[in-house]
Amino acid sequence: MLHCPYCHGSEVADQPLGVLANHPGAAHQALLLPDWGPTTYFSQGRFAPDADTAARLAARGVTIEHSPIVELLGTAPALDGVRLADGRVCALGAVFTIPESVPASPLAAHLGCAFDDGPLLPAIRVDAMRQTTVPGVYAAGDAASPMHSVTLAIAAGVIAGAGAHQSLAAEAAGGAPAR
Ligand SMILES: Cc1cc2nc3c(=O)[nH]c(=O)nc-3n(C[C@H](O)[C@H](O)[C@H](O)COP(=O)(O)OP(=O)(O)OC[C@H]3O[C@@H](n4cnc5c(N)ncnc54)[C@H](O)[C@@H]3O)c2cc1C
Repeated sequence: MLHCPYCHGSEVADQPLGVLANHPGAAHQALLLPDWGPTTYFSQGRFAPDADTAARLAARGVTIEHSPIVELLGTAPALDGVRLADGRVCALGAVFTIPESVPASPLAAHLGCAFDDGPLLPAIRVDAMRQTTVPGVYAAGDAASPMHSVTLAIAAGVIAGAGAHQSLAAEAAGGAPAR
């Protein structure tokens, strides 16, 4: 089970791929995946696409399957396929899904930082220098970004570090923390 086509797509390219829908955003994942392999969207009987989404999935060549996946087949971490509730077996090289995510720490909430809704979980609201809505408090990485990536986290950390230093320097010089 994989979560991100940009992280893992190349590892499983040119094989039949599946999306196990467990989230309203799953169809979006299925729209991306055909660039790595022929894709089946498993609605699990819970996230059937509306007519517009079904048309876009069809335009991308995505097969829609409503019988739920009940079993993964193969020897982990390899995957041979999935068994469906109606007994059929579909050969697949990988299944993507959107794991439920929660913040690892309540620190930002305890400090009173504002959050913005994100596709997976709320992200700490930050400005261009990665300062949160609490003056002098900076945030970077997954906790403060709707898109989760090592490169973005590192880049945001550089900016947040510079922002925090400049805020401390301004305060030491007699001013208020940068806003
Ligand atoms: C399975 C998987 C595969 C991925 N593959 C890729 C990939 O191929 N390429 C890519 O760019 N991104 C990938 N990502 C995303 C990438 O891992 C994250 O975007 C990145 O690690 C975010 O960095 P971060 O520093 O914000 O958070 P993290 O890397 O999660 O670091 C946060 C750290 O804070 C620590 N921590 C948490 N709470 C506390 C606390 N209260 N006190 C002290 N420490 C605490 C945690 O232990 C952790 O070490 C993948 C993610 C997953 C889950």
